[in-house]
Amino acid sequence: MEYRHAANRRRRKLKKKPTTILITVVVLAILLGGVFWFINREGPYDKYKEYNSDNKKFGTVEHFEKEDDNFFISLYYPKTKNKNLDKIIDEYQKNYIKEQKVNKNSKDILYMDYSIDEVYKQFINLNFETTRYNDEGKVVETKKKVFTYDTKKEMVLTLGDSLRNTFKTVLASSKGIENIDSKSTLLKVEKDKLIIYTNEDLKSKIEVNYKDNEELIKLANKNIPSQAPLDVAGPAPQPKVDPNKKMVAFTLDDGPHKINTLKVVEMFEKYNGRATFFQLGKNIALYPDVVKEVYEHGFEIASHSWDHPDLRKLDANGLNKQIVDTQNQIYKITGAEPTLIRPPYGAFNDNVKTVIKNNGLDIALWSVDTLDWKLKDANKIKDAIVNGAYDGAVFLLHDIHNFSVEGLEMALGELSNRGYQFVTLDTLKQYKDLKNVFR
Ligand code: ZN
Repeated sequence: MEYRHAANRRRRKLKKKPTTILITVVVLAILLGGVFWFINREGPYDKYKEYNSDNKKFGTVEHFEKEDDNFFISLYYPKTKNKNLDKIIDEYQKNYIKEQKVNKNSKDILYMDYSIDEVYKQFINLNFETTRYNDEGKVVETKKKVFTYDTKKEMVLTLGDSLRNTFKTVLASSKGIENIDSKSTLLKVEKDKLIIYTNEDLKSKIEVNYKDNEELIKLANKNIPSQAPLDVAGPAPQPKVDPNKKMVAFTLDDGPHKINTLKVVEMFEKYNGRATFFQLGKNIALYPDVVKEVYEHGFEIASHSWDHPDLRKLDANGLNKQIVDTQNQIYKITGAEPTLIRPPYGAFNDNVKTVIKNNGLDIALWSVDTLDWKLKDANKIKDAIVNGAYDGAVFLLHDIHNFSVEGLEMALGELSNRGYQFVTLDTLKQYKDLKNVFR
């Protein structure tokens, strides 16, 4: 009793008009209630208008919201200032909406959130998670999409862009490796490792530590241990091919040659054409700058072994070395690995073929042998080319001989007049049946 009395006295001393206080309290309560009502009045969709702000470490957050008779849609997605990437993101969310079928018994909710981060100012990792709910708030379906964008190469990275093509052999003991191929984009580039997801649901993964796998890593960035060259420009794009016009592929063996090879490149570029070079590892080691330029100009570089032995006569070690050393030599210069090999003399047996396939290569022969090395005469070589030409032909020549290069120059003019296009072997096989060339 004593206490209450004292308190009352104190209040009277401080505020002289208790009725004013009462009115103020009532008015405040009404106002606050009004504010709460205002905030909550939209009701059922509020929880879909929030996103996780902890995992967005790059770009700005964009929000798409729409309500119609069929759906309530609320999608959060990033804007990165990278035009190409923003276009990919935009297409992804538009396609997601387009794919959704209306449920007649429920006005479903489509919701998307994401995470994003950037590594070494080059790789942007993205992870989208979409969830479809029914009108009672139950999950109908969730979907995940993960990929990494390389801002230097301006493309979504595949496994084949991130690891050397021996990855299946090297990572053979990793669980789930058999489920993925080199075209998979289910990966994440972290500061010290590459994460490969082996399932669409992203529940299982393989981690590839950069430090312990330097020979395997293909990512080109100065902070990542790798033998990938950092100074190579991407290859010039292939010229547009008219599939209704005639086309041939020229293949040039035994180079590179310090002068002739780039002369040949220039000759083909005059006709907006391309060609394929089957090069020897030992010559590639002598003229790396030539190889780099050939690659950057969009010409195809393929393997012709290290120093031109008959592969059938080698033991297992020697055979593997001829192939692997040449692949490594080309990779160190271009950052790319050939997919084609031409065994010297076109000579191979089942064993050679198996070892070649195990190294991720295909055997490519030819269909028109110009016999340039034997003719040793530019005019005769020109005639051999022109007379042998047909739509889909694969010519064999050697850019190490001056007479071959001169004969080729004359022949290109003639064939161009006759309406032929000059393409790489890789391009030709997309349009023509080359089952006698590819073995
Ligand atoms: Zn040869």
